[in-house]
Amino acid sequence: MAMTILDTCINCGSCEPECPNTAITQGDSYYVIAADRCTECVGAHESPRCVEVCPVPDCIITDPNMQETPDQLKTKYEALHVN
Ligand code: SF4
Ligand code: SF4
Repeated sequence: MAMTILDTCINCGSCEPECPNTAITQGDSYYVIAADRCTECVGAHESPRCVEVCPVPDCIITDPNMQETPDQLKTKYEALHVN
């Protein structure tokens, strides 16, 4: 699954530079994660970096609409970093 940011986001910006896939950007109201670029940090870190740095509890959760296996997430990561 990709991660998704809820509207409890306080726009602190801490998560954006931590993402290994540049999946996080500032949205109209709060920060957003591009589901096609989020690998739950598979390929780069042991656990989602955005969740680790976010100061708001349970602000970033797994996206129930983006079901992906660990193998799919790894393939996704490799496709994003071919160059
Ligand atoms: Fe980026 Fe990792 Fe957060 Fe996904 S889980 S948005 S890849 S920092
Ligand atoms: Fe929002 Fe959390 Fe990212 Fe800060 S770290 S911008 S509160 S999602």
